[in-house]
Amino acid sequence: MKYISTRGDHSPKHFCDILLEGLAPDGGLYLPESYPQVDATTLARWREVYHQQGYAELAFEVLSLYIDDIPAADLRALCAKTYTAEVFGTGEIVPLRHLENGIWLEALSNGPTLAFKDMAMQLLGNLFEYELARRGEQLNILGATSGDTGSAAEYAMRGKKGVRVFMTSPYGRMSPFQQAQMFSLMDDNIFNIAVDGVFDDCQDMVKAVSNDLDFKRKYKIGTVNSINWARLLAQVVYYFAGYFQATEANTEKVSFTVPSGNFGNICAGHVARMMGLPVAKLVVATNENDVLDEFFKTGVYRVRASADTHETSSPSMDISKASNFERFIFDLLGRDGARVKALFGDGLARSGQFDLSQHPAFNDCHRRYGFESGKSTHSDRLATIKDTFERMEMMIDTHTADGVKVAREFVQTGVPMIVLETALPIKFAETIVEATGQQPDRPPRFVGIEDLPKRVTRMAADAQAIKTFITEHWA
Ligand SMILES: *Cc1c(COP(=O)(O)O)cnc(C)c1O
Repeated sequence: MKYISTRGDHSPKHFCDILLEGLAPDGGLYLPESYPQVDATTLARWREVYHQQGYAELAFEVLSLYIDDIPAADLRALCAKTYTAEVFGTGEIVPLRHLENGIWLEALSNGPTLAFKDMAMQLLGNLFEYELARRGEQLNILGATSGDTGSAAEYAMRGKKGVRVFMTSPYGRMSPFQQAQMFSLMDDNIFNIAVDGVFDDCQDMVKAVSNDLDFKRKYKIGTVNSINWARLLAQVVYYFAGYFQATEANTEKVSFTVPSGNFGNICAGHVARMMGLPVAKLVVATNENDVLDEFFKTGVYRVRASADTHETSSPSMDISKASNFERFIFDLLGRDGARVKALFGDGLARSGQFDLSQHPAFNDCHRRYGFESGKSTHSDRLATIKDTFERMEMMIDTHTADGVKVAREFVQTGVPMIVLETALPIKFAETIVEATGQQPDRPPRFVGIEDLPKRVTRMAADAQAIKTFITEHWA
């Protein structure tokens, strides 16, 4: 399997070449040359594999179709080491539970940081350690976080050989729970940096360092952002696992609703569907930051300015543009790299938007690729959380609530609708209390984490300061 860029660079690369890289050199995102097709025999075999041997073995089956430069025995061992009951809290890894009227919740948030990003990040940590050891190289991951991504990255990379994490976050702006999760890590290779500023200041520092190419090369600076293909690939697996749990036979179809921000999670659903998973609809659920809902309704993709990006009670979906969206548009436009380059490169830079409403392919979003979309606001979120709690005694998190709200608009009789549960309510306790008057349950391993000792370095919002810090703390 070779990988190509969405902006037309076709110099073929293997999986491990792109594993440690971010964007392709032409600014595009990597995708496989073609999607491997899962025929009826294979799908039947995978159903058995999943039920008899479990999630890790299913992950190995899916990943092997895309990774031909890691020996099978090693890849199988990496999957087995990643997807364990110890790390994900249950032997089923992604258990499905029924909500109501054909709507199911697939739990993706029982990992170390209680959000779905662990599903991919835990695998990434093991892949990085494996590949860096094989090359005899080191990597310093530099990132900016306002919560979920940073903690998922730290819990995936803690104690991993060859990897260090330098994670900036805005000082005093994360919830006490999130701060405790990150700052209580005492591993030698994890560095938390609280920046005097807001999230954008953190991101600007990271960009400034990454744009200093000499520094970047000398200090082996890398990232783990959501455009990484390995993260997306790891997420494809749970679409298959959800399908096998919700259906009895491979003649049946299911739909998925996905609380979306950067379009990474649902893009994995698109990939699963392209491989032949029997999916009827892929429903994109957004919050007040409705860039994606607007596109699927109108054909206009309009990125927002920072000032027009709302701070909401489902904060992990507060995006101004959807960084993985380019992958879907590449497929939608018949993999025309030149066209994608014009749209996402010059086009967006010039006017901040593009319009496909008159393009014949736009109707294919629904007809051919099964996409639908909807939006949920703070009051919808509160009502949904209250309703599922009062009627079903089920507490759901704010992002999942956006999913459930939108899913209800697209349920079809006879087609199970699977909503991906992307976080546990304890991470967003304030809104849960606002909706239900009750504190959400806290898994036993998180009791009292706010009282643990913390290790964090406070820093001015200054790119030079972080460069100095990295120079002093690497190797
Ligand atoms: C990251 C995140 C999302 C959005 O996922 P994308 O892949 O960016 O679309 C939704 N919910 C939670 C809890 C998240 O952490």
